Amino acid sequence: MFTERIKQLTPSKTTMSSQVASQLKAEGKDVISLGLGEPDFQTPKYILDGVQEAMYQGLGHHYTPGRGILELRQAISDFHFNHDGVRYTPEEIFVADGAKMALYFLCQILVEPGVEVFIPSPYWVSYVEQVKLAGGRPVIVETKQADHFKVNPELLDQYVTEDTKILVLNTPSNPTGQVYSEEELQAIGQYCVAHNILIIADEMYYRLVYGDARSFSMMSLPKDIREQTIIVNGFSKAYAMTGWRLGYVLANEEIINQLAKLSSQTNSNVTGLTQYAGLTALTGDNQSFERMHQEFSKRLDNAYQQVTGIPGFELPDKPQGAFYLFPDVSKAVEMTGFQSVDDFVQALLEEEFVLVIPGSAFGASQNIRLSYATSEDIFNQAIKRIERFIIHHS
Ligand code: PLP
Repeated sequence: MFTERIKQLTPSKTTMSSQVASQLKAEGKDVISLGLGEPDFQTPKYILDGVQEAMYQGLGHHYTPGRGILELRQAISDFHFNHDGVRYTPEEIFVADGAKMALYFLCQILVEPGVEVFIPSPYWVSYVEQVKLAGGRPVIVETKQADHFKVNPELLDQYVTEDTKILVLNTPSNPTGQVYSEEELQAIGQYCVAHNILIIADEMYYRLVYGDARSFSMMSLPKDIREQTIIVNGFSKAYAMTGWRLGYVLANEEIINQLAKLSSQTNSNVTGLTQYAGLTALTGDNQSFERMHQEFSKRLDNAYQQVTGIPGFELPDKPQGAFYLFPDVSKAVEMTGFQSVDDFVQALLEEEFVLVIPGSAFGASQNIRLSYATSEDIFNQAIKRIERFIIHHS
């Protein structure tokens, strides 16, 4: 009854794990979830106020242009001009139902059957499946912890073929939290220009960098690289708006027109009021963002210290962005006698009710991902339980 492509599709491990955690919670279990990638903050009040005002003014009640309301596209354009010094016109901007849908749409318009798409691992959960859904061939480019989990031209060169057409590059990275420097991005960009490989730069965590790292968008690279790059970004992480579903694409008009065409036959447009929420987020008070950002930065320091103290957990590089830690836990798995990281993670949930995501979800079977988008207190309780679990099984 079902299509081959839906039968072949692997469900998102992060989304599925959060459903398991909710179920255990509903059964009365004291679950601590370090699983999901979403801020624990409420959407800031100024955004809610902006939406309410728009709603009572009668805005956002009807269909909008498929590519998004002009005011929002203008605000996105201004935001990036102010932050990155590059001006995309509203015609070069497409508003999507979250970055996930933006990426899905991009795969639908760019990935032909048989086309090879470079996906550096560890990778965000949905890239591989979205490429497969479009009929493309995901080519996993394996990075090493010793290289800070980053790709470089030499590594790409080991995998390139004449069918390679796209590279999906995620910086700051989910799950590793690593951030590419301007020089590193430039080298990759030059390589892609030379090999006519289109870059999809997933910059979801662009505003969430800490310490010495700076937010650097690929759009700020020289023009020849920019012209071959598509930027994906969104509101979920920086504005605590995961439930609103709002993301966007910056690219040349030709690409944006194709996305708008797809939208005209699928979702019609992103929910009207959500678009006004995004408009307020970008044009209103920046202090809420600053407060959340400072809190994440503080949490990172705590989380890094806590996690590196767990026996058998190895995390040589302190992450610089996003809100995840991605330690190698193979020693802890060995010490505790489990067969695999997946088994270790499963038992941790069943015995201590701590949810973390196994690295296998991201193409890295020795690691786990812990999200610190939760209070320090809750995070530290989870760490105590993990330590108790390891001691108990050693
Ligand atoms: N890209 C990355 C790297 C992510 O981590 C996420 C969310 O987890 C997304 C894209 C999708 O974000 P959304 O669809 O909520 O905008």
